[in-house]
Amino acid sequence: MEGTDTSKQKNLHGIRIRTINYAMIVAACIIYISLLYITVQVSLKCSDTLSATDMHIACEEDARLVSEASDYLTEQVRLYAVNGDVQYMDAYFEELNVTKRRETALAQLKERGAGAEATNYLSMALESSDTLAQEEIYAMRLVSEAYGYEIETLPAEVQDVILKEEDRSLNPDEMSTKGRAMVFDTSYQNLKSQIMENISYFTDEVIKGTQQKQAESADELERAVSIQRICISFLFILNIVTFIMIIRLIVKPLQIYIKCIKEGKTLEISGSYEFRYLALTYNDIYELNAANEEMLLYRAEHDPLTGVINRGGFDKLRKLLKAKPEPMAFMLFDVDKFKNVNDTYGHEVGDQVLKKVAAIAEEHFRSNDFVARIGGDEFAVIMTASTPESKSIIRQKIETMNTDLMNPSDGLPPVSLSVGVAFSELGFGDELYSRADKALYRVKENGRCGHAFYDEL
Ligand code: GH3
Ligand code: MG
Repeated sequence: MEGTDTSKQKNLHGIRIRTINYAMIVAACIIYISLLYITVQVSLKCSDTLSATDMHIACEEDARLVSEASDYLTEQVRLYAVNGDVQYMDAYFEELNVTKRRETALAQLKERGAGAEATNYLSMALESSDTLAQEEIYAMRLVSEAYGYEIETLPAEVQDVILKEEDRSLNPDEMSTKGRAMVFDTSYQNLKSQIMENISYFTDEVIKGTQQKQAESADELERAVSIQRICISFLFILNIVTFIMIIRLIVKPLQIYIKCIKEGKTLEISGSYEFRYLALTYNDIYELNAANEEMLLYRAEHDPLTGVINRGGFDKLRKLLKAKPEPMAFMLFDVDKFKNVNDTYGHEVGDQVLKKVAAIAEEHFRSNDFVARIGGDEFAVIMTASTPESKSIIRQKIETMNTDLMNPSDGLPPVSLSVGVAFSELGFGDELYSRADKALYRVKENGRCGHAFYDEL
């Protein structure tokens, strides 16, 4: 058993499935977590880009609103300046104080949270917008004065205008001309352009910021995608390695084991540590079983006293040799007056004599002949591939055996054998046993210690 343990350790150098399993789980977890992390990063970057793009669109919309509202105000103030119709002034103040598209859009732009430079442009636009409104209201006051409208009936902003010294002294025509000039001249147009220019700079800044964010996101995205690609490649490799491991460590050894079991052989040691351990344990049990079986078989077919084949083994052999297509000789012999040996020397000595007879018989016949004890003091020898031509050899063997037994040098009592021999041309025929028995009986009848061939009776 000690030897078996050593041989077990010697062959137990396989990889453990448990270790591989843990390693695969850890590797897969690391790769999956990396993939998850990268995916979250990518989605965050994407939403960043989206909000930057949204801001860009909103800024453009606000800029458009500022431009539209500004043009609308200009249109109303100019119409009022040209024909003095109060409805245009009302429309102007409706836009300025209630609809407030220009102010609202500018306020929204401010809230967009753009960079410092962009906000600076926006502040300048707001400032210019205030100046422009003051100019426009001043122009409307001049025109209102020119038309002789009652100042108290005009909007508060117009009422609040304090006319400059030099304008107060102008006559209505001059006032009207100056009011119109204020909203049509180049400086008015320049101020308006300045507002739009500043808004345009602001929008450009926002676009620049958005483009920068988009470029950063694109870089990040590219990096993330290449990491994802690497992770997926690793996962693919991991899968392939797992399949190879399963085939090498589990499937292959199982196939080998099944083949060995079908062929009734011990298992070939292969595969993982666990399979090697199983195979070695199986082999130990297999060998133990085989040895036990062999021992049981030997015991079932051999005589415990003499060690030669017993009656059961002999009968089996007869059946087996019945169909054997070859000539054979069969010999039956019996110890003469053996009862006397028992009676005179005791049963134990009788046993020693029986052992000696069996040993001498085995010694004199070939290894491919079968010596059997078929009764108390009765033995048989089957001589395979023997024909009547070997009679003289057989005769000589019997005589030598009798000479040896009758002249013992081992302290055992002398005994002799009576032997009957018969031949068969083909296999162990049914009549072979009775023929040898008849020949033996004849020898007993004729005074024992000798032999007879059935075909000579
Ligand atoms: P014969 O010449 O006619 O054969 O005379 P025999 O006395 O040998 O007569 P038989 O063959 O009938 O007697 C066989 C004796 O062998 C009877 C039995 O007591 C004895 N015997 C049988 N088996 C054993 C055994 O295992 N040990 C011993 N010591 N004696 C046995
Ligand atoms: Mg006898």
